[in-house]
Amino acid sequence: MSIREKARLVRGDVPVDDSTFEVFINLLEVQAGLKDAYMPTVERANFEAAREAVETGRPAASGTGVWLREDEIAYGVRSIASLILEGVPSESHHVAGVLEAVEQGRLELKGVAELMLKGDMRGAERVAEKAGVDPTALSSLVAWALQPAFTSLSVRLRNYIDLSGWSSGRCPICGSYTSLSYIDKKGVFHLKCQFCGTEWDYPAGKCLFCGNDEQELISLVDLGEGKPLNLGVCHVCGNYWKLVDERLMELDIPREIYDLWTIVLDAIARRLLK
Ligand SMILES: [Zn+2]
Ligand SMILES: [Zn+2]
Repeated sequence: MSIREKARLVRGDVPVDDSTFEVFINLLEVQAGLKDAYMPTVERANFEAAREAVETGRPAASGTGVWLREDEIAYGVRSIASLILEGVPSESHHVAGVLEAVEQGRLELKGVAELMLKGDMRGAERVAEKAGVDPTALSSLVAWALQPAFTSLSVRLRNYIDLSGWSSGRCPICGSYTSLSYIDKKGVFHLKCQFCGTEWDYPAGKCLFCGNDEQELISLVDLGEGKPLNLGVCHVCGNYWKLVDERLMELDIPREIYDLWTIVLDAIARRLLK
């Protein structure tokens, strides 16, 4: 089944207009292509350092760093940029500015990628300002280009690193926090990284962000009508997470589109937590 066909399965549940939905699908399609293109580059990543990091409670990415070369990141950024230029005219000016700075050698993407991987968004902004480009356009393009690379890394490391000892709500591969979870058909709770797609076990009824597990301080809101979509809210840290209960699913929705499928929960959470 193609990404497009998979996305069609959830179209009715995603509260956006057709042209926005089309941009989402195009982005997923381009990223699926990049994931394949980046797969061979993953062999250059330091697997041993990745494993050692995870064994000592740090994400694999802190061991591998950004293994992509400048031209490989630029390839990803150009691929993503061309679909934004076409599908989101309101952003084309900012996106074109980033591409121009890269072509003219005023902007080095690998440095930006490394800062972002360390969570130093302020540092990435400073690079953008110095190069005279829009910081949000730059960080979005780099993140969308890195995402398939880390998805490839995650797939490659799946049989190499044992994630059973990982107990954090942060992704063991890329280090991002996720707000996406699911309960499988056997009733077991799992987290799924929204950035790189890694899946790992996590205790049910425990906040993904602060670890609070006092049940009276956690609310679970379901969408009603036997829908498999639920929202978890932690009253200690004020964060929320999306929960897909696969036991209630009528269609076989692939997990790789759960984040898109559950956008309605992000909208509800924003209203609830305002
Ligand atoms: Zn991840
Ligand atoms: Zn919390």
